[in-house]
Amino acid sequence: MMKRLLFGVGGIVAVLIAFILIRAFNYGGQAPGIQVIELSPPPAIDIDRAAYNLGEAIRYQTVTVARGDPRPGQEGPWLELQAWMKTTYPDFHRVATRETVPGGLTLLYTWAGTDKDMAPLLLMAHQDVVPVNIGTESDWDAPPFAGEIKDGYVYGRGALDDKGSMVGLFEALNALALDGFRPRRTILLMLGHDEEVSGSGAAAGVDLLASRQIVPEMVLDEGFMAVNPSPLTGKPMAFIGVAEKGYLSLNLTVKAAGGHSSTPPRDSATVRIARALVALDDNQMPSNLSEPPVSTLFRAAAPDLPFLTRLALANQWLFGGLVESSISSGPAGNALIRTTTAPTMLTGSAKENVLAQRATAIVNFRIHPNDTEEDVLDHARRLTNNIEGLEITVANSGIRGAGASPVSPLDNLAYGVLSSVAHELTDGAPVVPGLVLGATDSRYANALTDNVYRFMPALMEAEDLRGFHGTNERLTVENVGRLARGYAQIILAMDSAD
Ligand SMILES: [Zn+2]
Repeated sequence: MMKRLLFGVGGIVAVLIAFILIRAFNYGGQAPGIQVIELSPPPAIDIDRAAYNLGEAIRYQTVTVARGDPRPGQEGPWLELQAWMKTTYPDFHRVATRETVPGGLTLLYTWAGTDKDMAPLLLMAHQDVVPVNIGTESDWDAPPFAGEIKDGYVYGRGALDDKGSMVGLFEALNALALDGFRPRRTILLMLGHDEEVSGSGAAAGVDLLASRQIVPEMVLDEGFMAVNPSPLTGKPMAFIGVAEKGYLSLNLTVKAAGGHSSTPPRDSATVRIARALVALDDNQMPSNLSEPPVSTLFRAAAPDLPFLTRLALANQWLFGGLVESSISSGPAGNALIRTTTAPTMLTGSAKENVLAQRATAIVNFRIHPNDTEEDVLDHARRLTNNIEGLEITVANSGIRGAGASPVSPLDNLAYGVLSSVAHELTDGAPVVPGLVLGATDSRYANALTDNVYRFMPALMEAEDLRGFHGTNERLTVENVGRLARGYAQIILAMDSAD
């Protein structure tokens, strides 16, 4: 009897192990429906010339610091950069029309296609750059606004974000025009003027396109690229941004009588604000690994993941808790799988021996595509509803569209083209759909179509990425070439397929 029971248990365990292993072996690979595209070779592009041109674009100090920049009278660098575009890329300017989007300095180019039935391609980049922190200029290996080429790099603010993309797009478009290419599908190029502060230019540009009933086949903006090594696998991998997180700040306020700190009450306004912050920190928004973009990201990355990781991911019914705690143990992984909670500003009384009559905090949330603004507000209110007198209001950050973007589909022409180009760029490394943690101008374009993607056809190493918004922002000359050729391949592939 006992023997038979043991055999029975052993049998069940063996079946279970087999089940777990089979799931692990079958886990991963691209989502079904991804269209692999035969790529055409790009037109001839002079890479050294392109790098030199990027250096020139960097010299125009199109710096935005605050919402509303450039202020009236400060438009000079933008207007000079725009004049430079015309003289540097005459062939593209011959075939395309250019208009300034009303209300700012955002540009919209239209290269009319021959087939009016084909939905247009919308390419995006931005003209503005973040400032260089005062006092850090001398930390740079080359001055931040000189556009010097040194040791194979183009140095300067905007090299990565986002003049590298802008110049890469111009190089591709100009080379195609010079080559005699005539697009079937209309090509639109939108260059925002204030992405780093609000993206009001892109918002207005998208409104203009909407008023013309334009529904692009694909919108392509900055956001991700191919990297080597990927933080997920330690090997090359290309990320294509299929969504970006939203942005919401909440004001927390407690009012009280105040008074002298020699006779304080318990649970003062300041303490209640502190309790609210601890409650929010202790109880993070829930994670969700079972829906795109996170589920599709891990599936696509799986072939290069260690077997045990794949086994755990494939069997989340058993190892879900382990997977969740391992991913959320670092800030980047945590930001990938949930809405993050960041208390950033605090006020109390203005004097050390005076009790606060008003204590406040601002908590900045980056909303995951699996949550809404309402979810965040409900979560914050529910966790703090036992704190007397606490008021929660939405801070007016002046940002439109606080929620996360929708998640763009993978089973369409746009994703097929981008993953084909990324695949070639990386010599066959996995291409995975990613979640952009910051905000890009393309978030507005979801008003036009679901097919919004964030990808630069460049291959970067950890060292190359360090300069984003920081010291020694630079782009390799090789990557300038990859961008120019990659954009040309994307344009050609989008044009040759229906
Ligand atoms: Zn940018």
